[in-house]
Amino acid sequence: MANDTVFMKIVRGEIPADIVYRDEMVTAFRDLHPQAPVHVLIVPNHVIPSAADVGPEDEATLGRLFTAARRVAEQEGLEDGYRLIVNCKAHGGQEVDHLHLHLLGGEPLGPMRSRRGSGSGGR
Ligand code: AMP
Repeated sequence: MANDTVFMKIVRGEIPADIVYRDEMVTAFRDLHPQAPVHVLIVPNHVIPSAADVGPEDEATLGRLFTAARRVAEQEGLEDGYRLIVNCKAHGGQEVDHLHLHLLGGEPLGPMRSRRGSGSGGR
């Protein structure tokens, strides 16, 4: 059911999470399986399934994801920088069908994507 993502349960306080920021539009909490010293997920307080589902009505919420990310980055002391990631659907590796921003930092994160063999275009 669309309103029953694991992230909605966190937003509604039905399952525990280490929440680091919340307001009327978004909630930010630490990822259960961190991939960097700081790994926070920032999610809308309502379900938008993926980046492929956003519409004009979502623009305020999407902007808030970024201003919340900036606040969390400041809280976490990430003055040397960080990475924001949105995975979209199967090829993007999206596991939870509730649009979210990954905020990763706390150490140099290396290239965005490991290089594949020659012929991949090197983009
Ligand atoms: P994605 O692959 O972009 O959909 O990312 C989903 C992320 O959610 C993964 O990094 C998971 O570790 C994380 N995750 C799943 N369940 C929880 C949870 N209950 N609390 C915190 N993070 C979670």
